[in-house]
Amino acid sequence: MTSDCIFCKIAAGEMDSTMVFEDERCVAFEDLNPQAPTHILIIPKEHISSMDEAESNHSELLGHLLLTGAKIARERGFAGRGYRTVINTNSAGGQTVFHLHVHLLGGRQFVFPPG
Ligand code: 5GP
Ligand code: ZN
Repeated sequence: MTSDCIFCKIAAGEMDSTMVFEDERCVAFEDLNPQAPTHILIIPKEHISSMDEAESNHSELLGHLLLTGAKIARERGFAGRGYRTVINTNSAGGQTVFHLHVHLLGGRQFVFPPG
């Protein structure tokens, strides 16, 4: 827990969010400013600032975040049609909140490359 991190506060239940899923390693909640009909953020409970700070001992945790997104997409019924998972890293990658998070976006058509 990093005291000035909003996502640590959400994970600890100290800040409001619309929670979607929680287990011992991660929480998933609705993005405040959704970019698709479904826009969920999946975050580790452990504070890791970004992929740039991730280490080899986080391998299993990172896989768990992605698999949690896949599970939520199946449960919400848009996995077969398709969806997008995104991790923005540092400034040029578009990261604005420095607690590692996976965006799960679904319910519309996406194009590639993203902007
Ligand atoms: P980034 O740009 O760092 O990849 O994504 C940060 C995301 O967090 C953005 O999509 C933004 O809308 C979302 N966000 C920022 N502050 C909050 C908040 O307090 N609550 C929730 N639920 N989402 C937030
Ligand atoms: Zn944090």
